[in-house]
Amino acid sequence: MKTTAGGAIPLALAFIQYLYCRSRSDGDSCGECPVCRRVTKLIHPDIQFICPIASSKEKPTSESYISEIRELLEKNPYFYEHELYSALGIEGKQAAIAVPEARSILSKLSLSGVEGGWRTVMVYLPEKMNASAANTLLKMVEEPPEMTLFLMITHEPEKVLRTIYSRCLVLRVIPLSGEDFAAVHPEDAEDATRMTDLFADLFNALSEKDLLGALEAGEQAAGLENREKQKTFCKFAGEVLRRIFLVQQGLEDLALIPETEVEFYRQAATKCRKSFPRGAMAYFDRATELLERNVNQKIIFADLVDKLYMIV
Ligand SMILES: [Zn+2]
Repeated sequence: MKTTAGGAIPLALAFIQYLYCRSRSDGDSCGECPVCRRVTKLIHPDIQFICPIASSKEKPTSESYISEIRELLEKNPYFYEHELYSALGIEGKQAAIAVPEARSILSKLSLSGVEGGWRTVMVYLPEKMNASAANTLLKMVEEPPEMTLFLMITHEPEKVLRTIYSRCLVLRVIPLSGEDFAAVHPEDAEDATRMTDLFADLFNALSEKDLLGALEAGEQAAGLENREKQKTFCKFAGEVLRRIFLVQQGLEDLALIPETEVEFYRQAATKCRKSFPRGAMAYFDRATELLERNVNQKIIFADLVDKLYMIV
């Protein structure tokens, strides 16, 4: 994916392009085939682009503004929110993602994809989705049909409705190069090995429904020398879970897994429920928060293990 740092929309499009491209190589889309071209120009029939609009009878959904959106994207894919509104001619109006939009998404997804591959719903600024629209979409976001991807781009994740947010896998926008990805691993090689082993112990015990073994691994995590190390472990676990999730979704290529670890991830993906990685990531995040608040470490990790055990 040849993208520049920053700019979530170009990155999202690069991600979709990679997913859709029919002649990708070396971990990148070709950028030249007809599919790639249509993705870049946002004219692929299996991509819906949704953004806040001022809905009216004449223009009820984002699709009614699609030519303005394409034009803006071509001129400046790094546009800001206010530039979008001025391109759509709705400056100063109340812009939202409302129920007609949600209904239109559902009705399109009820039909099969035009090209028989992935279908994507890109939602730009999901924080502008009102509660009724979110309720309409909830079930679909929670359990999308096969080969259907919801990609939401927000600058203010804390403002996205919790019902929607809690069903999403959160990816920070960084260019997905191997180098950047490596940065999430503990710097110290010894640390990396310890954390990998510890995570493997915990995960294996959980997946074998061995509660005692899992609690023991939890105790080891609580026994890491300090809160910083414990937090690093939680962050590390989050990254491993993210990769397991991607493998489960058939997106192994995007997980950028070192060759020596591929087997572990493939196994792991079959050993837990598909809902596990997302749920577990949320629990590790919660544990990180509690670690920052000086709650007793043994309690934090015992509680974490209990929760993981329930959902694995
Ligand atoms: Zn291509």
